[in-house]
Amino acid sequence: MKSIQSVLFILISSVLFSQTPVDGYFSKRIDQAVDMMNMGEYEKANDEFTDILKNITAVPTDLAFYFGKNSYHLSKYKQSINWLNKYIQLKGTQGRFYDEAVSTLNLAEEAYIKKAKASSEAMMESLTSGEFDCGGMDKIICPVCKGEGVVFKKGAFETLYQTCPYSAGEPYITCEEYNQFMRGEMEPKIKN
Ligand SMILES: [Zn+2]
Repeated sequence: MKSIQSVLFILISSVLFSQTPVDGYFSKRIDQAVDMMNMGEYEKANDEFTDILKNITAVPTDLAFYFGKNSYHLSKYKQSINWLNKYIQLKGTQGRFYDEAVSTLNLAEEAYIKKAKASSEAMMESLTSGEFDCGGMDKIICPVCKGEGVVFKKGAFETLYQTCPYSAGEPYITCEEYNQFMRGEMEPKIKN
């Protein structure tokens, strides 16, 4: 997947875009791929577009639009955005697919942001859902007092010992409490 993406990236940045008519062989294959896309066979169309892009020497600008549109339907939003932008850059407002390119681009950008947001939320979720295992133990050394049962408080003239308020003087806390601690939710058992 990654290698296809980088191949496409290289294609986008280095390929010669052609404004002249494509030769019959490729123009026929592009038409067929567009038919597939219009019938909703996006995967098949994608394979075909990808193969054409790999083999054609000068990419016709319309192909940039088709591939961008098809990529949108496959939820390949970044790829869709790149190709639709390329099409708009090359053809400007005069392109025959200009309106559709702009509206598809807007949809792709919206979907891309939504997807990026969802995946970062999913990451946050897993960070905060308390999935810290305690190495299979149901008790773990109290991270606050390091199992000492006491914590030290530096007073004005002396060091004060205080029973660890989190483990209540015990060396261990439960795995559940440890998870609460890691989430910043653990309340001291002993309050001053
Ligand atoms: Zn403790």
